[in-house]
Amino acid sequence: MSDRATMQLACPWHRETLQTLLAQQHEGRLPHALLMSGALGTGKYRLGRAFLEALMCQKPVGGLACGECQACHLSAAGSHPDLVIVQPEEAGKAIKIDQIRRLVEFASRTPQFGGYRLALIAPAEAMNRNAQNALLKTLEEPGENTLLLMLSHQPGRLLPTVRSRCQQRVLPLPPRDQAVSWLSEQVGQSERAEALLALAGGAPLQALALDGSDWFAGREKIVNQCLALLAGRQPVSIVAQAFAGHDAGSLLEALYGWTHAALDYLARGVEPADKQLASSLIKLAQAAGNDRLLAFATQITRCRRWLGSGSNPNRELMFEQLLLVLVGVDAELYAF
Ligand SMILES: [Zn+2]
Repeated sequence: MSDRATMQLACPWHRETLQTLLAQQHEGRLPHALLMSGALGTGKYRLGRAFLEALMCQKPVGGLACGECQACHLSAAGSHPDLVIVQPEEAGKAIKIDQIRRLVEFASRTPQFGGYRLALIAPAEAMNRNAQNALLKTLEEPGENTLLLMLSHQPGRLLPTVRSRCQQRVLPLPPRDQAVSWLSEQVGQSERAEALLALAGGAPLQALALDGSDWFAGREKIVNQCLALLAGRQPVSIVAQAFAGHDAGSLLEALYGWTHAALDYLARGVEPADKQLASSLIKLAQAAGNDRLLAFATQITRCRRWLGSGSNPNRELMFEQLLLVLVGVDAELYAF
């Protein structure tokens, strides 16, 4: 085993947290259950993996996983017998109760390497109520040297009984300068990094994901379609149809970011950070006005919830309802 395994690296803004967690472990103060929450796309998963891989490593270097020992190779390959990662089997879907039952069984076994038994649940809110209930007893009476690490961007969706059994740590958004410099390295251009970051509400990994989306380069067209709607130059149904052709999750996120940029402009005269879009967003702010933009933002949040609930709403209908709010039609809104 001479090849070095590729270990997960925590993002720069999480390195201090990682060191704190490792110090906690060193001093024997590690809890049995830890819930780390923070915005989507800020690198919680990387941090969680880096931490657990370091705990598993047989010869950590400076507290971090060495990448060379047997444990590191197994961790990196996802086949370490004492490390379990529980995620939805399909992106955006729920973590099933059977997955949690397997985890409960895992937590009762003797560690094969004689060290920790570690489990990562991400995102924890993907566990439905039954799955969360199935985990309660393990959270209450975990075996020796067991750590359940839960990551969540919506900790409010966890049962209070689950939350109260975990030590909780809230991870803030990274400082803007650090986020811009990291993202600039990834996308090769600081202006592009600024625009992406503004769109992703300051979450760098979310911004990076947007960079790969099908519509980002043509985003001006999307804002202009909203302007055409407001000017009565295009019908809602046509624009909704066009929007439904894009990845709904990332488009809703972008619409949310733009709406807030427009609101910020109206409230405080702040120029939108995305230079390429600035003039269109200012026109959007002026055409829609404060109240309608607020209603639009609320409706975007509802749409995101529908998408996140796994109910698979009809995209075209969803965008139609959303755009009706933007043009101020007092349509009767219904859940999909
Ligand atoms: Zn190692």
